[in-house]
Order: sequence, then structure tokens, then C-alpha cells
Amino acid sequence: MTCTFCQGELERGTAPFSVSRRGYHVVWDAVPAWVCKQCGEPMFDDQEVDRIQRMIASLDRESTATA
Ligand SMILES: [Zn+2]
Repeated sequence: MTCTFCQGELERGTAPFSVSRRGYHVVWDAVPAWVCKQCGEPMFDDQEVDRIQRMIASLDRESTATA
């Protein structure tokens, strides 16, 4: 697995992940990710992206319920 931007080598680390939705903004400080040693660009695992998308989906349900 290499960086899609610079083809650099990736190492295991964490990266912030933020999402802006209608009505709220969510930031995760340290999501497990592969971080490029060369340019620092994070690549998130599919499973982490899935997990975040499920969290966002549940937030959407909550915000709809309380709106
Ligand atoms: Zn890179």
C-alpha cells in the first residue's frame, strides 16, 4: 500500500477525521490510519470509514429525532 498522492511509504498511525453535516460538525482526533511518511497524508482503512459512516448515520437519526 502506497500513498495515492506521492507514492510514498505508509506507516501505521492515527489522523484526525472531521465531518461537516447539516447542523453539526464532528471531529475525531485520532482515527487509526495509514500515514504517508513522505507527505503526511492519511489513508483510512475501509473498516474505519465504515465505522465512522455508521456513527454519522446514527447521529443523523438522533438529530432528526430531536429536531
Ligand atoms: Zn504521500
